[in-house]
Amino acid sequence: MLLDLTSIRQPETPVDRTMAPEAFAADEEFRIVTPARLVGTLHKDEDRYRLVGRVTTEVELACSRCAEPYRMPVDGAFELRFLPQALAGHKDEDPDTDPTTAFYADDAIDLGQVVREQCYLAIPMKPLCTPDCQGLCSQCGINLNTERCQCAPTWQDPRLAVLQTLASARTNDDA
Ligand SMILES: [Zn+2]
Ligand SMILES: [Zn+2]
Repeated sequence: MLLDLTSIRQPETPVDRTMAPEAFAADEEFRIVTPARLVGTLHKDEDRYRLVGRVTTEVELACSRCAEPYRMPVDGAFELRFLPQALAGHKDEDPDTDPTTAFYADDAIDLGQVVREQCYLAIPMKPLCTPDCQGLCSQCGINLNTERCQCAPTWQDPRLAVLQTLASARTNDDA
């Protein structure tokens, strides 16, 4: 998944790579499940590079409500600058303040890393298998999207809860 920069001679070089899902280690948040394709153009300016392109793939996520795995397409356009590792730490080239800048070492750009970053950017904070996912029953844990349970509704009038708290506090005072 490395793009060898020693073979790049032209100011503009088309890039089209397809990476097998097995090439990506499983991540805590997502798993790449279909071949990831990166298509773009690599712009070269001496030892500085700019990669402009698009990543398409499909990831498997766990629903944040029902915990079931589901798939989501990723289609992310990006533009990244790659500077030689020797410039790392230079105050004008700090990747912490500029997320579009990265450093390369050993005359290669890690395209797998670019794919992973695009997946991270695409996945939502709270992944949902469907917008109206019913989640799990808070009492028996059954998946309410596919099954029904006999658990009593857990909703309680909040005013009643306040009265009960007051009543138990009163009892404790009397003791
Ligand atoms: Zn769900
Ligand atoms: Zn239940």
